[in-house]
Amino acid sequence: MTTAQVKKPYLLADRKNHPEDTVVTVGTGDGCEPVKIGGGNFQIMAGPCSVESDEQITEIAAAVAAAGAGIIRGGAYKPRTSPYTFQGLGEEGLELLLKVKKLTKKPIISEIMGLSHIEEYSHVDIFQVGARNMQNYELLKALGRQEKPVLIKRGISATLRELLLSAEYVLAEGNKNVILCERGIRTYDHYTRNTLDLSAVPILKEMTHLPVIVDPSHATGRAELVAPMSLAAVAAGADGLMIEVHSNPEAALSDALQAIKPEEFAKLAAQIEAIRPFAYHK
Ligand code: PEP
Ligand code: MN
Repeated sequence: MTTAQVKKPYLLADRKNHPEDTVVTVGTGDGCEPVKIGGGNFQIMAGPCSVESDEQITEIAAAVAAAGAGIIRGGAYKPRTSPYTFQGLGEEGLELLLKVKKLTKKPIISEIMGLSHIEEYSHVDIFQVGARNMQNYELLKALGRQEKPVLIKRGISATLRELLLSAEYVLAEGNKNVILCERGIRTYDHYTRNTLDLSAVPILKEMTHLPVIVDPSHATGRAELVAPMSLAAVAAGADGLMIEVHSNPEAALSDALQAIKPEEFAKLAAQIEAIRPFAYHK
């Protein structure tokens, strides 16, 4: 097929060619309970921005799991804007994530920054492709040759078409387990860290059959906005949320301003459960 013939080039991601919702199954190894996302299955992914220590990740993971998070998040290799800030614990962080996975029996998600790390991520249940890597096509193609789910975050100035084309890179290589994540885009106002594009949720769900989740933490950069934006995302029809939680936000080594406390997360998770029956769906 030539480029000129490809009028709607996200053929595999396009809802027109695949009317039913894709349901992604997450976590099939290491004794964890598999969970589903998409097609009416809603999941909250929660945990710290970065894995900082055994004590830190164990405490937060246990708390969010008990409060209703189906998937534990934690960054091991961090894409920091400055090379002089905390870069993550790397391999040690991945080992700690495996430990909390065995403890909580919940699957884990962690951001993968490069091709060379794929083998190291053998116990990670979802490969998270960060906003900065949304258009790293070699990484997307390599993840397309894996079987585990891939969560793709929208780039800071990416259009929805570009996001779907990034998903298409993974799908075209054979991996059908793709989840999309709206995490805020860059606009002119710095009142919030980014601008949460909530209309992306119903639009994407119209354009594609892939599950769509929202990350209100990076979208707003402000802890006090995480709860209202989470509830709004659920109302808009999101298939899940990704929320940053820290037991001691002031001391967090990354994204301290947007982390909510475990008790705030528990309250929010209960509110989410209460409004889910009223969520929009077509
Ligand atoms: C993260 O999830 O910690 C992260 C760095 O996210 P994003 O790629 O959306 O900036
Ligand atoms: Mn973060």
